[in-house]
Amino acid sequence: MFCLRFNCGLLTGCALLSALLLAIDGRAGPPAPPTDLPTYETKYYVLHTDLAPAEARAVVHHITLMAEEYNRRTSGMGKRVDRRLPLYLVQNSGTYFTLGGEPGTAGLYAGDKLLAFVRDPLSTETWHVIQHEGFHQFADAAIGRELPAWANEGLAEYFGEGIFTGDAFYTGLIPPARLRQVKGAVADGKFRPLRDMMQMSLETWNAHFGLAYEKAGHNYDQAWAMVQFLAHGDDGKYQQAFANFLAAVSRKQNCERAWVANFGDDLQAFQKHFDAYWLGLSEDPTARLETEALVSTVTSFYARAFSQRQYFDTFEQFLTAAASEQLKADEDDWLPPEM
Ligand SMILES: [Zn+2]
Repeated sequence: MFCLRFNCGLLTGCALLSALLLAIDGRAGPPAPPTDLPTYETKYYVLHTDLAPAEARAVVHHITLMAEEYNRRTSGMGKRVDRRLPLYLVQNSGTYFTLGGEPGTAGLYAGDKLLAFVRDPLSTETWHVIQHEGFHQFADAAIGRELPAWANEGLAEYFGEGIFTGDAFYTGLIPPARLRQVKGAVADGKFRPLRDMMQMSLETWNAHFGLAYEKAGHNYDQAWAMVQFLAHGDDGKYQQAFANFLAAVSRKQNCERAWVANFGDDLQAFQKHFDAYWLGLSEDPTARLETEALVSTVTSFYARAFSQRQYFDTFEQFLTAAASEQLKADEDDWLPPEM
């Protein structure tokens, strides 16, 4: 008889490794007390940040859309988050460590706050961390602590890979470099058997944190690959079952029973589909989606300029105006020009 034992342990925290931050240690930069940070009351967050006001404004725009996407995507699970969540985004590494950031990390969600180090307020890496830890924080407030570690980390990585376009948040992207890592791990048998992954407790997950990529990195890649597969694999075949599974565990249903009810009890067959899906993908399978996200970004700016009666004869003229930050927009409909 098939038996799958899950550990639905409490989520006590997650810190995301950052290759860029590995060089920073706790002595870098003068520490500043948290109370020195300017505070912004935004729609979904209380933002504490040492970023310049213009950069903070861009961040507020992004985190507002991010929270709305999380609200929308978790609407069938748990409750609506009706309080502002604490978010600390800091550029000063001393402040980052004073607030509890660990050397070698770029951000963490520790249950009481989300903290991220912002090397560049517009960099993909920075937003990967904020979107990843932001999902943990949001899931904790909306769903509680019911998600198994693989689903929580996998979803956090899934949203971490999301692209913000000004008016939308695109998810489901497969970066080619990450795909190569996943293909290599599947082909070389470096991933854990699905059964092991599903049984992994948060304590074990966190115990691997800080270890070499062979352990910690593979766990994140595998959890992401599982969520990506369940959300989009085989033309979305598992999407509804995955949503049902998440809704069931968020209602405190036993994880094993929820899995079997939605995916059946033949985990070996499921593993085969998972492996075949990843090995069968082309080199850049979501190139079209990425192009759509780019077009969406351009459209966001073009529509704002058009609404201000700013017209262009050619696309090159539009690009020139964008590059020199000359695009117009209504004050209430502002977008970060650096995008
Ligand atoms: Zn995480």
